[in-house]
Amino acid sequence: MTELVRYLNTVDGRRRAAADGQWIVSQNPFTGEAWAEVPRGTKADADEAVAAAHRAFTGGAWPALSATARGKLLRRLGDLIARDADKLAAIEVRDNGKLLAEMGGQLRYIPEWFHYYGGLADKIEGGVLPMDKPEMFAFTKHEPLGVVVAITPWNSPLLLLAWKLAPALAAGCTVVIKPSEFTSCSTLAFVELIEEAGFPPGVVNTVTGYGSELGAALTEHPLVAKVAFTGGDATGAAVYGAAAKGLKHVTLELGGKSPNIVFDDANLDDAVKGAISGIFAASGQTCIAGSRLLVQRSVYEEVAGRVAAFAGTAKLGDPMRSETQVGPITTLPQRDKVLSYIDVARNEGARCLLGGGRPGAPELARGWFVEPTIFADVTNGMRIAREEVFGPVLSIIPFEDEAHAVEIANDTIYGLAAGVWTGSSRRAFLMADRLQAGTVWVNTYRAVSFMAPFGGYKRSGIGRESGQEAIREYLQTKTVWMNLAEGVPNPFVLR
Ligand code: NAD
Repeated sequence: MTELVRYLNTVDGRRRAAADGQWIVSQNPFTGEAWAEVPRGTKADADEAVAAAHRAFTGGAWPALSATARGKLLRRLGDLIARDADKLAAIEVRDNGKLLAEMGGQLRYIPEWFHYYGGLADKIEGGVLPMDKPEMFAFTKHEPLGVVVAITPWNSPLLLLAWKLAPALAAGCTVVIKPSEFTSCSTLAFVELIEEAGFPPGVVNTVTGYGSELGAALTEHPLVAKVAFTGGDATGAAVYGAAAKGLKHVTLELGGKSPNIVFDDANLDDAVKGAISGIFAASGQTCIAGSRLLVQRSVYEEVAGRVAAFAGTAKLGDPMRSETQVGPITTLPQRDKVLSYIDVARNEGARCLLGGGRPGAPELARGWFVEPTIFADVTNGMRIAREEVFGPVLSIIPFEDEAHAVEIANDTIYGLAAGVWTGSSRRAFLMADRLQAGTVWVNTYRAVSFMAPFGGYKRSGIGRESGQEAIREYLQTKTVWMNLAEGVPNPFVLR
């Protein structure tokens, strides 16, 4: 047996195993082999990490730093991530099976969040309030919330962490990170850079472990001011409930069943590629997956056929190799869940145009692969069109006109993203206006930026990440009143 790489947590600047000495083994989705282990933290570890973050928030070097100095640390951290991008990407690929081609690009882009929020740290202006009471002078200032718990899923551990960590630190909060138990390694490797960048101990801490054992202990902890969570909507609801009991702030980035809508006046070459990237990139394991392809009836068969033909050429294989286009599913339970949804679609009467199972090639047998799968003649009432599969399974649904497309697109409990493919700017604006989604892409799909607010309508989430808005999610406003009058008037009357 190959020796496992052992990663440790960081609490108060010190490397830590779990308090009770237990470990979680991480498996490589391409080989199915164990390759690393991370601490299996429990409530004791949660308590220690939150206490460290709370000490760092309330005293020591961190609160004494100016916002400008905080910004410099963030920018330095961004530079270190850029330096180590290839190394971190390789760890993430081994852990979650996404393509090195994608992770390499993602890791080189992640520094932008740290540079952007580093720049924003000292531009959070309060203001002098216009005042109806002439004897009073009042102003506002924005202060950090306190200890933030950042909980991330397995599909893009470092990107989704950056979306939380960069604005939280820019705001002046301290952070306890809990990555997914399936993919903790890249986060633990990344956190070492935080120390190198010069952040004081305790400002950023990690604890790894299971959601039920550790995540719940973190979200319930009385010293935690905010939970920033990305994951499934059922878990998000549980986190929201726990946070509500403690009256904590939350940001929730949850699932989706996003419509990717193709009108007959679209450039169909582009639309076909947009459909493919919407659902087969990252093997469909993205919250923004365009898992419902809505196609106008007049071009329905043509588009369905072209998408299936294009997807049929996808090269499945080792995610480390540059020629691979579709990698494995990150976890074995998720692989089985995706396969079970394929059965659901078949039983519902959807027409399978492509894939529909595990690939037969012997070199893929050890990995947790699912073939790129396409179902046509899906109706929006079918479970395959209503529930998040989180895998490479596309449902193609016909529509008649704009109103019908809007009706189908919005007929979902989710509202994370939507795509519109059209040659008409009138139609593009109209659809962007009517679609109930936190992000609408026109003639593109999957674009994200550190500058662009991202988040969900309906059950896809609460709050926004990225852009200037996101830093507000980690701040609270204080109003300061100065009495300019001589003496205090009648103390029994509120003024
Ligand atoms: P998940 O909900 O199972 O787990 C997410 C995280 O929550 C993990 O770290 C897990 O350990 C933790 N957790 C589980 N139970 C918990 C509890 N009771 N208290 C606190 N923490 C708990 O999600 P997943 O399977 O890792 O990720 C896939 C899901 O994430 C999909 O639904 C996907 O749509 C969603 N997602 C959303 C976005 C977005 O930005 N909206 C991005 C990526 C993924």
